[in-house]
Amino acid sequence: MDEKKEKKVYESIEERMREEGISRGAIATESLRKTYRKKIWTKFIKAVKDFDLIKDGDKIAVGVSGGKDSLLLCKLFQELAKDRTRKFEVAFISMNPGFEAIDMEQFKNNLKELDIPCEVFEANVWEVAFEESPEKPCFLCAKMRRGVLYKKVEELGYNKLALGHHFDDVVETALINQFYAGTVKTMIPKVKSTSGKMELIRPMIYIKEEDIINYTNKNGIVAMGCGCPVESGKVDSKRKEIKKLLEELSKINPNIKQSIFNSLKNINLDFVMGYTRGNKKDVAKDGNENK
Ligand code: SF4
Repeated sequence: MDEKKEKKVYESIEERMREEGISRGAIATESLRKTYRKKIWTKFIKAVKDFDLIKDGDKIAVGVSGGKDSLLLCKLFQELAKDRTRKFEVAFISMNPGFEAIDMEQFKNNLKELDIPCEVFEANVWEVAFEESPEKPCFLCAKMRRGVLYKKVEELGYNKLALGHHFDDVVETALINQFYAGTVKTMIPKVKSTSGKMELIRPMIYIKEEDIINYTNKNGIVAMGCGCPVESGKVDSKRKEIKKLLEELSKINPNIKQSIFNSLKNINLDFVMGYTRGNKKDVAKDGNENK
């Protein structure tokens, strides 16, 4: 065997970082192009193309929560920005909703290790959400976080905000809405903000959470959870409940999540009892079983 071509096998990522003098960020980028090309990179590019998410001249802010999904989104955008045929600007911004100091330290450390230059601004979201709605803070929290982030992104002059919602988020949101809000709707790949000045884009909607978790672990990234009491199990969460349900159902039908995802692209309006478009409601009065 040609010894020069033999690839050294390292015990850990840290050993490779030391031996080769490269950062965790560089290794994480490399794995997007190699190990996770099919499961992550290609799906990211497919979503960008399928939904025309990035146009020349776009100024895109990537919203960074510090969790595994948004850290991956940053690496994907950094890689995409190397493509000279695409003419867009990208920056990484984060809102601190009230993290404990220890979580904040972990967050900043991750950003440094992964070579992600990120602007962090403060907002007192958790305190307000938990005070106003101690039993079910998620609705208010999510609404406030969105509001504060959108406003900041618009103020800074970006025309797009990219968020790290993935395939499983789309499926779970659809079920939460159906089970608890009596409506069929989910997260979509792009949507205009209420002010109309900015567009929200979700380039990770084809990427499965399982693959994000594997990528994160494989690269030795210790991503933050969202760091609030809901996450640590002190308050009930509908999303956790739906996740568990889907896990159980997947044992009987391994394709169930994909099927739910597909159903959201394949709604047959001839066989629904009513639907809403914009502010207009429409009720089907003369369904035809034979169609
Ligand atoms: S889990 Fe925590 S951070 Fe996430 S929406 Fe609920 S309260 Fe907010």
